[in-house]
Amino acid sequence: MTVEADWVHRFADEVIAEADRRAPGKPIVCASGLSPSGPIHLGNLREVMTPHLVADEIRRRGVDCVHLLSWDDYDRFRKVPAGVDPSWSEHIGKPLTAVPAPPGSSYGSWAEHFKAPMLLAMRELGIDIEPISQTQRYTSGAYRAQILLAMRDRERIDAILGRYRTKAKTRATDDEDEAAAVEGSGAAAEDDGTAAAGYFPYKPYCAVCGTDFTTVTGYDDATTELSYTCACGHAETVRLSEHNRGKLVWKVDWPMRWAFEGVVFEPSGVDHQSPGSSFVVGGQIIREVFDAEPPIGPMYAFVGISGMSKMSSSRGAVPTPADALEIMEPSVLRWLYSRRRPNQSFKLAFDSEHLRLYDEWDGLARKIGDGRAAPADVVAFDRAVRTSTAPLPMTPRPVSFRTLASIVDITTGHPEQTLRILRDLDPEQPITSLDEVRPRLDCVQRWVTTQLPADQRTQVRDEPDKELLASLDDRQREALRLLTAGLDEHWSLEGLTTLVYGVPKQQLGLPLDTKPTAELKVAQREFFALLYTLLVGRDTGPRLPTLLLAVGADRVRRLLNDEA
Ligand SMILES: [Zn+2]
Repeated sequence: MTVEADWVHRFADEVIAEADRRAPGKPIVCASGLSPSGPIHLGNLREVMTPHLVADEIRRRGVDCVHLLSWDDYDRFRKVPAGVDPSWSEHIGKPLTAVPAPPGSSYGSWAEHFKAPMLLAMRELGIDIEPISQTQRYTSGAYRAQILLAMRDRERIDAILGRYRTKAKTRATDDEDEAAAVEGSGAAAEDDGTAAAGYFPYKPYCAVCGTDFTTVTGYDDATTELSYTCACGHAETVRLSEHNRGKLVWKVDWPMRWAFEGVVFEPSGVDHQSPGSSFVVGGQIIREVFDAEPPIGPMYAFVGISGMSKMSSSRGAVPTPADALEIMEPSVLRWLYSRRRPNQSFKLAFDSEHLRLYDEWDGLARKIGDGRAAPADVVAFDRAVRTSTAPLPMTPRPVSFRTLASIVDITTGHPEQTLRILRDLDPEQPITSLDEVRPRLDCVQRWVTTQLPADQRTQVRDEPDKELLASLDDRQREALRLLTAGLDEHWSLEGLTTLVYGVPKQQLGLPLDTKPTAELKVAQREFFALLYTLLVGRDTGPRLPTLLLAVGADRVRRLLNDEA
């Protein structure tokens, strides 16, 4: 098969060529950055997924490639989120790794608490990353030479930042928190190092109170002695050549790391790429200060979230990748990203749009099975279902999500009833174990429980609607008799489909293979509404053949026949 050149393929070509030019023979470095300042927003998944797909394509070609995930866990704790004990405000200004985890958490710090579910989600998604803790890097002195260099070159850095400062000031700051929540990394609102005593790109964390409410008051290039004062009253002079408790400001920190790690590919969100934003400024700083080149850094567009019900997120209003994995298989979530170029925005739907997504996914799988799919679709599917090292878990018998949702809705997830209905769907190749429809079935169960509104849940009647049955005319009675008489013979999804559409045809004296006419459609609609009313007490519901299978033949006969 010839490989279709999709966006992933084209970036991999570009990255390999660039890496060959910059550092031939060394493993290629792709990078992502995330801040564990709170729950990792589902919108941030693109920050990780984009380099993952490119790194995976590079590995598929047998080229050594690492995907670094930089955790910005040495960033300051900015504010106490709603729902957390207000006493946590005493930690504002400390590094995220020095803040206790939210109440009730078993993790050692705020940062670890919010990293953990994202790490788990990435593992489920087959995203193979090498995590880097910025706390570990800074406090071990790993960046010593780079920090001293940045301090020595502070005037040059100040001048570069100065080119953009006026523009930056005009940017609205009201939605900084929101921007920070969905941006891949970096502190959106961090100051750039300007102080009364001059410009200093390094900010110490106070030796006494541990916060960064510090101000650098002087720096001596010859001795590397740095003096600072803190809002707590502490003041001291430290030797920067030995000091491991502070960090470069974000706009210098990011390009420093590109140079330190030799990053060749790191995309970023739309907010990082406007004039004066960190990617643009970082590109200048890495060239002029760190004597290296910025990564190939495409901008990725916003991923919206729609139709998520409140009850489905255990973490308040913030949807996370783990929430998405509750209702969709990892390969389907991967597919949303592999099939679109990073600069295409899209919405990730939790409501009934989700059923349409699954229909599309199953449709593509069938087309690929029959060899009818377009090459670009085949490539996007292939990136979704496997990585260079392993296949993603797949559902062996992918019964439509829609059908499974109806079954789970009606049975309220009861395993024996669910299996009975599944077995009846296709008697020629019966499903004999729920494992054959897992993990999809688990996703369906969570979707029905958390996303299907209570007023759309199906309640099968316990007792026949005697009043309605007594009011039926002869023609309606005849229709019900034809249906109940044919149940046993047609007891499969396909058979019952033929039967429910066939009864009105029989009544109109039409052959079973007749094409639908306007008159027939009216008759079918009326018949279906009558069946829904008698079975579930409303005039709509899950597809009738699924509903009949779920209700069971005996109960259907009882509900449709007042003489029983
Ligand atoms: Zn202090």
